[in-house]
Amino acid sequence: MLEVKALCKSYRGLPAIDNVAFTIRAGEIVGYVGPNGSGKSTTVKIVTGLLEPNTGQVLFEGKSIRLNLDHYRASFGYVPEEAHVYTHLSGLEYLQLVGRLREMEEPLIDLKANRLLALLGLESWRHSPISLYSKGMKQRILIAAALLHDPKLLIFDEPLSGLDVLSARLFKDLLQQLAAQGKAILYISHVLEVVELVCHRVIVIAKGRILADAPPSELKTSLALANLESVFAQLVKQQDTQSVAQELVQTMAVHHV
Ligand code: ADP
Ligand code: MG
Repeated sequence: MLEVKALCKSYRGLPAIDNVAFTIRAGEIVGYVGPNGSGKSTTVKIVTGLLEPNTGQVLFEGKSIRLNLDHYRASFGYVPEEAHVYTHLSGLEYLQLVGRLREMEEPLIDLKANRLLALLGLESWRHSPISLYSKGMKQRILIAAALLHDPKLLIFDEPLSGLDVLSARLFKDLLQQLAAQGKAILYISHVLEVVELVCHRVIVIAKGRILADAPPSELKTSLALANLESVFAQLVKQQDTQSVAQELVQTMAVHHV
């Protein structure tokens, strides 16, 4: 469904991503993990058509997304990392706006928006301005907005941030049911336990390059490691966090020079 081919993007001569390529098929949940600054958001901005790559291309159902960006935008739902939503609108008004932008019929927007708000525990808040919502509530509104037009492709950038335990669990179940309906899902996250649990494949990116693209179980077996977190640490050769933590505490305890 989605094919990402040989993407390169530099900012002022510095490569942010280098030769990034992967595919996501219908019914697949693909995790995209990497340290801060590794190029995850740059990839997502290119995949959502917000940013043009220097070279490479993104194909949706076999066609370049650049051929008809408006058509493509109606085909995916996107939950961004930060909620730049129109905070003066109420939750319901925001979903109505999104539905109109997606050219949905008014009665259908109202039916689906109200149902989604109720299912996500926001029914009693639907007429309150989003500015009064907590981080987790804003996140749930963004999730509702991404589902409203029944897109084939869903892109979630750190969707669990700010969600309480129950909402996070609901989200995990939702991912699995979306995949069962044949949706293609790109799931960017730092929460490796969840990635390991729900993703069919995980892509590990560091310094703009893809280091691995395989099912979590395969990554664990081939590296003989117990969990995805150890695989991640090994692949991206993260600093020795224990000794850094120790030095932080030692530095903190210095009172005289
Ligand atoms: P991630 O989302 O994995 O944390 P990003 O894709 O945001 O990583 O960033 C990848 C690299 O590109 C980083 O080195 C970052 O500093 C750089 N970068 C991202 N956006 C810009 C920008 N608008 N201008 C200059 N450099 C950028
Ligand atoms: Mg990012």
